[in-house]
Amino acid sequence: MEPFVRKDESYLTIESWMKQFPGLVAGITTKIGGVSKGDFETLNLGFHVDDEVNHVYLNREKVADLLNFPLDQWVGAEQIHDIGLKRVEKKDCGKGSVSYEQSFKGTDGFYTNEEGILLTLVFADCVPLFFIAPNAKMIGAAHAGWKGTVSQISKKMVAAFGTDGINPKDIHVVIGPSICEKCYIVDNRVVKLVENILEDVDRKPYNLISDGQFSLDLRQLNRLILLKAGIPDEQISMSNLCTSCDQELFFSHRRDQGKTGRMLSFIGWKEISNH
Ligand SMILES: [Zn+2]
Repeated sequence: MEPFVRKDESYLTIESWMKQFPGLVAGITTKIGGVSKGDFETLNLGFHVDDEVNHVYLNREKVADLLNFPLDQWVGAEQIHDIGLKRVEKKDCGKGSVSYEQSFKGTDGFYTNEEGILLTLVFADCVPLFFIAPNAKMIGAAHAGWKGTVSQISKKMVAAFGTDGINPKDIHVVIGPSICEKCYIVDNRVVKLVENILEDVDRKPYNLISDGQFSLDLRQLNRLILLKAGIPDEQISMSNLCTSCDQELFFSHRRDQGKTGRMLSFIGWKEISNH
């Protein structure tokens, strides 16, 4: 079953998690309903892509209103396709929400067990990963393109939760909308790196389609890595939505040849204890 449900023209949520875990807000935006122009039409949420800064700000304000999660409670990252994870706390709130300069440097994932912090990352084809260990109230978000995926950022998040005493068996993961295997063609160099981490896996997540060209299922690759890290199969759900196939709904770096906007993934606990 598709874990992402459309709530509005501008965003989808992980409906089952939000029902199961009261106070949780988790999902991803679409490209619809913003004020950006041209290549960034219309709901571009990435500051780093040469869009007008004020348009990105207005788009972010809109999403903050829709989610009822104010911008001064967001955290954002300067994503570099590596595996740097940052544990964030209340004092970090607001960093990277309204200015790229203030975002967390060299960071491709966040985690926290505190309320009133929205973990945000931006995407246009790469795989958004959402983590929750409900008993420990720990949540996480990661950005996994091919580099982050083969460097096993997903496994690193499981290990980070582990330092807090969380067992992989208590972690649930959702693999979000991203580029599908039909749209994602890579060369030998990438497939070699995939082979290195999947020696003991029979069903490889790639297929040779022509000389030196492979179609790669990045979502399935992340799933295989998470299984190897000890997450139970039934606690991993995977979206079927493709950012490249669905031109109406999503920005796609590949399809739009690099000139495009960014969607925003989000996960956070609303501040409820004081109410
Ligand atoms: Zn596709």
